[in-house]
Amino acid sequence: MESLSQNDVGAIESPVLAIDIGGTHVRVALFDPVMRAHREIPTLAADGAETVLRRLHHLVQPWIQSRSIRGVAVATAGQVNPQSGRVVDATQNLPGFRGLDLARQLRSWFAPSMAPPILIENDVNAALAAEAMARPNVSSLIVLALGTGVGGALMIDGHIVHGAHYFAGELGHMILHPHGRPCNCGQTGCLEQYVSGPGLLLTARQYYAPLQSPEDLFLSLAQGEPWARDAVNQFAEDLGLALTSLVNVIDPDLVVLAGGLTTTHAHWAERLTTSIRGLSRKAIPLAYTKFGQDSPLIGVVELFRQRYLVPPR
Ligand SMILES: [Zn+2]
Repeated sequence: MESLSQNDVGAIESPVLAIDIGGTHVRVALFDPVMRAHREIPTLAADGAETVLRRLHHLVQPWIQSRSIRGVAVATAGQVNPQSGRVVDATQNLPGFRGLDLARQLRSWFAPSMAPPILIENDVNAALAAEAMARPNVSSLIVLALGTGVGGALMIDGHIVHGAHYFAGELGHMILHPHGRPCNCGQTGCLEQYVSGPGLLLTARQYYAPLQSPEDLFLSLAQGEPWARDAVNQFAEDLGLALTSLVNVIDPDLVVLAGGLTTTHAHWAERLTTSIRGLSRKAIPLAYTKFGQDSPLIGVVELFRQRYLVPPR
């Protein structure tokens, strides 16, 4: 994990308020440009968008009242139009966010004449911006986030790809196994159903039905259980298949794997390399996240800096 240096987000005289709205946690911090005052609350998303935003407002109100805020940079789950600041679509993980004019909601926290610029971006796109910032020689990048679900983001030739309907980079819903496991998106056999934490558990239970958790899987793997090795190999095969196809579409400088499941990569990274080698003659340049769960906060501030703070040439 790296922390930001003074240079990383440029010179910001008054702080940028950064917000990361996820399905399970809302994280906030001030960047001046170093990340400060990091706080986190459970999203409790089932309460609905209005309540989530009210709790968030309560959390950051003392900051807004006590200092001049240079801007607000928000990374959120869901598909986002970063020009309008609207959440175009969101899953049932964030009820009430579909169609929400998030930028307008946040603007209402400020007196009309005092509202600072507000930038909203999808959380995985924001995470990609952080990973790209940390690697100045990289201009085409894939981020695949393996967690409770599977998120993705794409940068091609220096530009984050949003697509015609802001759905670009929904890599978790590439179909990996036709007629496979049902997915909450309505398709069957999506990547997310195989290489997320819950997906890995489903795979492992095909080899050992009583398995309770991914932790128990890796414990059994360390103890040399053949079923655990087979399950983890299958996971690596699935991931290798997806990465090989993606690299043929995007031709990236680098693929960054992120998300909670990558903390277990020591158990499967080698097998993943073997799997990719068996599928393709191309080597896939692979790396792991530099900022972990702080990536969306760091990246969305970087995007804010690029849009509002870089002086025009
Ligand atoms: Zn799906």
